[in-house]
Amino acid sequence: MSNGLRRLICCLITFVALACAAVRAQGQRAGQGQAQAAKPDSPQVLADIEKAKALAGTTWALEEHVICDLPSISPAVDPGPQKLFDNLYAIPGAYSAGSGVIYLITTTAGIIQIDSGLQKDVETVYLPGMKKLGFDPANVKIVIITHGHADHFGGAPYLQQHYSPHVYMSASDWDFMQLAPPPAQGQPAIPPKVDMFVSDGQPIVLGDEKVTPVLIPGHTPGSLGLIFPVKDGGKSHTVGIVGGGMLPQGSPDQMRVFLHSLDHFEEWTKKMKVDVELQNHPIMDGFAGKLTALRARKSGDPNPFVVGQENYSRFVEVMHQCVQVYIDRRLQ
Ligand SMILES: [Zn+2]
Repeated sequence: MSNGLRRLICCLITFVALACAAVRAQGQRAGQGQAQAAKPDSPQVLADIEKAKALAGTTWALEEHVICDLPSISPAVDPGPQKLFDNLYAIPGAYSAGSGVIYLITTTAGIIQIDSGLQKDVETVYLPGMKKLGFDPANVKIVIITHGHADHFGGAPYLQQHYSPHVYMSASDWDFMQLAPPPAQGQPAIPPKVDMFVSDGQPIVLGDEKVTPVLIPGHTPGSLGLIFPVKDGGKSHTVGIVGGGMLPQGSPDQMRVFLHSLDHFEEWTKKMKVDVELQNHPIMDGFAGKLTALRARKSGDPNPFVVGQENYSRFVEVMHQCVQVYIDRRLQ
């Protein structure tokens, strides 16, 4: 793809993402389904949905429903901070469409944090979560921002002021966040200072841990997928996070960019043998149920977040198919 074409696609995505954010800022967001056409689905769309359902099976039925049907999503109850793997922890907050999960990866040289949540949640969700898990926020050395919306970067300036972690993200989403309007919550979204712009496939290294970022433009121009190893009772697994999995409400052409990103991400996840599925907005993958199962887990039981390589690919493919549903709905 030429640089000119890439820039054009980037601008188009930026435009639609800004339009989306403006709608949210007006308090009109009641879920993902705002732009959904009122007219009945065409035979083509119905066939697309059937294909998504077949791909989803029972394992990813919720994902198919959330992404293909675009229901309104209400804030969920905070399940509390939780250790997921030997070296991975989650601080969920109210993990709805408007507030994501912060993940902490422990390494031999400190903590890598994924996303920083909303600025308003730092003192009420993030810091108490760190304390409950037994961590010192000063031990966070790197914060990776998955994309340039305030529910992912809003808390980062506070962390930089108080604890001086390095912030890593994509260059195109740093540009994007300079333009983005305040979030619907009414808080001014102050962008963090960025210490490093990440590149597609170039690992972020801290101590004995490597996180591989994959550029997946779609939800925003520079959204990141993340892939990294974890251990469960000493056994190795690999996590995949689609760090911008909520559908952008763009034109069919813009959504085709997201389709391409999902293909690109799936290639990476296959190459790196991803077998653990996590989301930064875990509203489509049974997160709450898995947390409950993990808390009740007995010695020898499987870790509910390990889905296997084939199921992980199907998770990405269901998302891909639901983007196709969205495109065909817009074209009908
Ligand atoms: Zn977002």
